[in-house]
Amino acid sequence: MSKQKTISASRISKFLRCGMSYDFRYNKKLPEYSNFSLVLGRVTHQFQETVLLVKAITCALPEWDSVKSKPEELFLAELLKSSVKLKQNEKEFNYEELKAKYILMANSACKEYLCHIAPKINPLGLEENIYFSVKGVDSQIRAIIDVREEGVIRDLKTKTKTEKAKATLQYCVYSMAHKIKYGSYPQIIQDSIIILKKETKCLSQEVTVTERHIEKSINIIRAFEDSVEKGTFAPASPMGWWCSSDCSFVDYCNCNVL
Ligand code: SF4
Repeated sequence: MSKQKTISASRISKFLRCGMSYDFRYNKKLPEYSNFSLVLGRVTHQFQETVLLVKAITCALPEWDSVKSKPEELFLAELLKSSVKLKQNEKEFNYEELKAKYILMANSACKEYLCHIAPKINPLGLEENIYFSVKGVDSQIRAIIDVREEGVIRDLKTKTKTEKAKATLQYCVYSMAHKIKYGSYPQIIQDSIIILKKETKCLSQEVTVTERHIEKSINIIRAFEDSVEKGTFAPASPMGWWCSSDCSFVDYCNCNVL
């Protein structure tokens, strides 16, 4: 008997953005470039996990002074694992200058997280993996929930501009996973965003996921499975901002991005 496939919201979202890049990553497994912004996002996530784990165990957050070297350590460790390429708008800087700038940003984002977001969180679950099935979808669906509190799911993002949070496929998958594991949809889905501008700031937005959103997301998942089964991997829309010379697969792609 063949093993049941597992899919996650991030895989499907990758496919929705660009079928070709999905094919490059998950089927052809081509090496891909990263960039400093992606490294920074991963570092804030790891920092979040570190400090919330302390809070879950001891009921208190660590002092900033005791963890202030952590963002830089995490950043340097993450850099060792990543093949970083400078983005188009970063070409005027050299690698070392940018590295130093991003380490400062990581520092500031993590401090902001520790001082302004983490105190409001009482975690019951961290990086929780929930697997579930949905009628009409052959694969098993996997949700990785960053932070779970009583009836609340929190997701952390690092961005450079403020955008209104919406009911994405990712949040629909989280809601379905919560209902299956805990018997009800989460009362709140909270998008915690660290905005990296000259001055770092935090923003929290609540996202409403309705039955209609969930129905729509299941249809998207079915269409995704169908396309993958048929081997249909279309390029991104040329209007998508992510389809640019900064794409991590641009070297393998013949779509002639500008
Ligand atoms: S450059 Fe555009 S079309 Fe090519 S892989 Fe990247 S996002 Fe897809």
